[in-house]
Amino acid sequence: MSFINHLIKYTLPALPKWFARPFAKPYVAGETSEQALKHVKTINEKGFSATIDILGEHITDIDEAQKITEQYCDLYDQINHQSLDCNLSIKPTHVGLRISLNKAITNITKILDQAKKNNNFLRMDMENSVYTDHTFEIYNLCKQSYEHVGVVIQSYLHRSLKDIEIMSGNNLNARICKGIYKEEKTIAFQDRKKVKENFLTLAKTMAANGAYAGYATHDQDLIDQLLQWIQSESIDPNRFEFQTLYGVPMQGRLEELIDKGYKVRIYVPFGPDWFDYSLRRLKENPAIARYVIKNMFKHE
Ligand SMILES: Cc1cc2nc3c(=O)[nH]c(=O)nc-3n(C[C@H](O)[C@H](O)[C@H](O)COP(=O)(O)OP(=O)(O)OC[C@H]3O[C@@H](n4cnc5c(N)ncnc54)[C@H](O)[C@@H]3O)c2cc1C
Repeated sequence: MSFINHLIKYTLPALPKWFARPFAKPYVAGETSEQALKHVKTINEKGFSATIDILGEHITDIDEAQKITEQYCDLYDQINHQSLDCNLSIKPTHVGLRISLNKAITNITKILDQAKKNNNFLRMDMENSVYTDHTFEIYNLCKQSYEHVGVVIQSYLHRSLKDIEIMSGNNLNARICKGIYKEEKTIAFQDRKKVKENFLTLAKTMAANGAYAGYATHDQDLIDQLLQWIQSESIDPNRFEFQTLYGVPMQGRLEELIDKGYKVRIYVPFGPDWFDYSLRRLKENPAIARYVIKNMFKHE
């Protein structure tokens, strides 16, 4: 771990929340659903789709998991009411997976019913590898009762290609990302070049198997490689979309993608848990601190 990462990891938790807020602000769309939905409206007006995530994870209290479930249900109604181009992304441990698989299934089923009622889509984010099997199990279960549900495939995991092959038969819809957690070398590529190569392999395999893919990356070189392949193979633009995180500077790249006729979705996280959530992410993988610092001093 570099000195700067080490420093950030140990000093940030000791800082008051008011001090840390400006660091997190560009990446978090407020604390309330009203604030997040307002950001989504602006995002839509610029031609982008959105997906909302309530910040938080690893809930161990049943009532708290229930509360978050209800908030997600309510969000579907609000999105519909405001005619926004926006779906939802949930972390299974935020709605009960840390408590038990059954609790997560019960809560996610409720959220899925709301998605159905509002004719919307539900994405299940992928967390650390302890939860991968259960997340796929829940996804497969949901898929049996509703088509508009998706999951996430992490290109750093050795298993991902096989997972795609297993799930492809069932109209797979998956976001591909590199993966944000710190995983052991026995199960995950540690070499960033390999993670990137695997991202492309997974994208190609999904397209070959007729799956719908969300290419979630800010890596400009990877976006170039994806575009080159998409254009040379004439990949149907209705079978994929690009996805990025709210607030990450992209140097006009997203507008270019829209101009080329591709769909771009912005992941919009919000919620009062922004501070704890950011800290947990940072402690787990201090490398992401680099981005925050770098982007703070970068001007578009
Ligand atoms: C829409 C979306 C959904 C995601 N969902 C998941 C998920 O469910 N599970 C999971 O494990 N991971 C998820 N991730 C995170 C992902 O796995 C990567 O860790 C993250 O996107 C960084 O990888 P990269 O492809 O952008 O490439 P990198 O090479 O890591 O980053 C490329 C450049 O992008 C910028 N950048 C990247 N990330 C950030 C950031 N957070 N803040 C500021 N600048 C940044 C930096 O300038 C960096 O140099 C998601 C990412 C996106 C975009």
